[in-house]
Amino acid sequence: MASSTLLDDPSSPMSPMVADSSDAERRLREAEDRLREAIEELQRRQRRAAACGSPQQPPCHHASDESCVANAIGNLCQSFLLSYGVRVGIGILLRAFKLLRGQSYSSLLDLKQLVSEKDLIVREEACRVGLLFGGFTGSYHALRCLLLKLRKKETPLNVVIAGSVAGLSILALDDSNRRRTLALYLLARLAQSAYNSAKSKNKFPIWGSHLRHGDTLLFSLACAQVMYAFVMRPESLPKSYQDFIQKTGPVSKPVYKAVRDCCRGLPVDIASLSAFLSERSNSNIVKLEKFPAIIPCSVIHPDTSSCLAHNAKAASATFRKTFPLYFSLTFVPFVVLRLQKFLSSPARTCWLAVKGAVRSTSFLSAFVGIFQGVICLHRKVATKDHKLVYWIAGGISALSVLIEKKARRGELALYVLPRAGDSLWYILVNRHLLPNIKNAEVFLFCLCMGGIMYYLEHEPETMAPFLRGLIRRFLASRISNPSPPPNRNASYNYLQTLDVKNMSNSKENDKAETKASPSAKYNLESIPGL
Ligand SMILES: [Zn+2]
Ligand SMILES: [Zn+2]
Repeated sequence: MASSTLLDDPSSPMSPMVADSSDAERRLREAEDRLREAIEELQRRQRRAAACGSPQQPPCHHASDESCVANAIGNLCQSFLLSYGVRVGIGILLRAFKLLRGQSYSSLLDLKQLVSEKDLIVREEACRVGLLFGGFTGSYHALRCLLLKLRKKETPLNVVIAGSVAGLSILALDDSNRRRTLALYLLARLAQSAYNSAKSKNKFPIWGSHLRHGDTLLFSLACAQVMYAFVMRPESLPKSYQDFIQKTGPVSKPVYKAVRDCCRGLPVDIASLSAFLSERSNSNIVKLEKFPAIIPCSVIHPDTSSCLAHNAKAASATFRKTFPLYFSLTFVPFVVLRLQKFLSSPARTCWLAVKGAVRSTSFLSAFVGIFQGVICLHRKVATKDHKLVYWIAGGISALSVLIEKKARRGELALYVLPRAGDSLWYILVNRHLLPNIKNAEVFLFCLCMGGIMYYLEHEPETMAPFLRGLIRRFLASRISNPSPPPNRNASYNYLQTLDVKNMSNSKENDKAETKASPSAKYNLESIPGL
C-alpha cells in the first residue's frame, strides 16, 4: 500500500506530460533506494543495541500492548480450552462409532445416550491433556518474558531454558508409560530436526547421512527390535501394537509362547499346544517334547507341510486382510483434504488412492512373508533355536520398506523408532543394564521440549510441517495475536513490498538482504492460522 501511493502520487500529475516520465521514475527509484538504506541502517542499529545489552531492553516476543502476565494467562487459557475441547470431541466421536457398531442408529440422535456422564468418560483425561498443553504454553510464555528481564537479552538459550522448564507440565499425565511414549516420540522428532539442520548447514558429516538408504537402515534396526520384542518380550510393547502384529501375521499365540519358552530353556506347555494343534485339523500330529531344541515348522504352520506354500499364503492373507484398511486410509484423506480436485477428476483420484493402497499393502505383505521365510529357513539349516534369529528376521523383513515411496520410508522409520526405543528401554531396565531412575522420562521430555522449541523458533524449516503446525496451533501462539512485533512492523512491511516490486531487476540484492536479517524473517510468527 505504502509503496503504491508513493509511486502514484508524484507520477499522476506528471503522466499527461509524457516527456519527463522516465526521468521521474529514475528519481523515484533513487529515493526508494535511499529510503531502503536508511531503514536497514535503523534496523542494524536496533539489533546492535539489543546485542550489546544496552540499558534499553529488547522488547518481548508478544505484542507490546499486552502485559507479560496477561499474555501468559491468555495463552494458558486458550491452550487449555483448545486441547480440552479436542479431547472431548474425540471422545464423542469414538462413542458415536461405538453406537454405530451396535447398530443403534436412532441412538445417535439421542443426546443422552451420546454424551451422558455414564458412558462418555473423558473428563479427567481431558482435564489432564488440557493441563499438559495449557500448563506448557502458559509457563513457556511466562518464562520467556522472565528470562528476557533477567538476562536482558534475547538468545536461543532463553528459548531452550523456557521450553525445558515448561516441559515439567508433562507431570499432568499420571501414567508413566504414556509419558515415556511421548518423550521418545519427541526425541525422534528432535533427532529429525537436528539431522535436517546439520545437513542443511553441511556442518559435520553424520554417519549414514551420505548413505542413500539411511532411512531404510533406520527402519530396519527399529523393526528388528520391535519384532524381537514381539516374540521374546511382548510385555515391552503396548497392547495395541501387540494386537496389530498378532492380527497381521499368520502364527497364533500359543505357538509364540512355545517358541519363547523353548528359547529360554523353559518347559513347553504341551497340553495347551497339543490342544491347539488338534483344533487345526491336520492328520500328522507331531510328537511334542517337554524341552525341544527348536519348535519345528510343523508346529509353526500346522495347516501345510510346505514352507513355501505357508509363506505365500501368509503374504496373500495379509494382503487381503489389510487392503480395505489401507484403501480407506489413503482414500478418505484424498477426498476430504482435496475435495475440489476429487470432484474435478474422481476417476484419477480413485486410481491414485488404489495405487497408494496397493503399494502400502504390498509392503506389509512382503514384510510378513519375509519374516516367516527367514524363520522357516532357519529351521531348515539349524537344529537349535536362538532368540537373536527373531531380531535378524525382523531386520531383514523390514527391507521390504523399499517398496514404499522414498518419502514414506523416513516417516515410517520415525514412527517405529520411538516404539523400538521404548521396548529397548524397558528391557534394559528390566535386566538392570540401565538404572531405573524414577521419572527419567520426565527429564527426557523436558530436554526434548527445549530442543524442539529451539528448532520451532529459530529453524522452523527443519521440522516436519505437520508437527510444526500442530505445535504452533496448540502451544506457541495465540490466534488473537498473529501480528509481528509492532516496532518493525511498518518499515518491515514497506521493505517487503519494495522487494516484491524490485524482484525482477535485483534478485541478487534481495537474496543478500534476507540472509542479512534472518531474525527479522523468523521472528514473524505471523503465519496465520497455524
Ligand atoms: Zn513479556
Ligand atoms: Zn516352515
